[in-house]
Amino acid sequence: MAHVASGDLFREALAKQTELGQLAKSFMDRGELVPDDVTIAMVMERLSKLDCAGGAILDGFPRTIEQAVALEKALGEKGLGITLVPYIKVSEETLLVRLAGRWTCRNCGAIYHQLFDPPNEPGVCDECGGELFQRADDTPETQRHRIEVYFEQTSPLIDFFKQRGILVEIDGEQSVEDVRSALLAAVARVRSGGVS
Ligand code: AMP
Repeated sequence: MAHVASGDLFREALAKQTELGQLAKSFMDRGELVPDDVTIAMVMERLSKLDCAGGAILDGFPRTIEQAVALEKALGEKGLGITLVPYIKVSEETLLVRLAGRWTCRNCGAIYHQLFDPPNEPGVCDECGGELFQRADDTPETQRHRIEVYFEQTSPLIDFFKQRGILVEIDGEQSVEDVRSALLAAVARVRSGGVS
């Protein structure tokens, strides 16, 4: 399935110096959410591409109730829907440690962690040899603000999707391997006909 990450789409737009990229940057730099209308239009456009015809894994979207409602409506009109919402639960403390050590490949987007998943050679991607960078919005102040924004605007989605019976809680404090196994098990359960 296609991996559609709204943050990656904004960063791509910024790299291409489009108007959307410039607009998004002003919000991303402050750790604020980009306005819903712009975000929804961008993600919907991406989902209309051929590689999403068999479904997509959404990453970082929806982040507000308005986005979730728009997504449900757009999918519903095509007779489609959201099958699974993994809620990877992590404490604020753990999140800050993980964000502070995050390195991303400029070329292929692979993600590493300075302590928990370091690349073989510092600054170089194991997958493609690309250059690793730290995101501009991974500064301590912006990280903290992004977490505040998450609690205010995104956490209401937990109840929203719980009510629809498609939320699966995953313990995100575990190792990368264990989180991966729990996610794959949740996907396997959905494929065999049930979420819980
Ligand atoms: P991410 O890569 O998912 O951490 O997103 C980085 C930044 O892009 C966020 O802090 C927001 O400024 C913006 N962004 C990404 N996804 C969304 C979204 N669904 N709604 C609004 N803003 C978003």
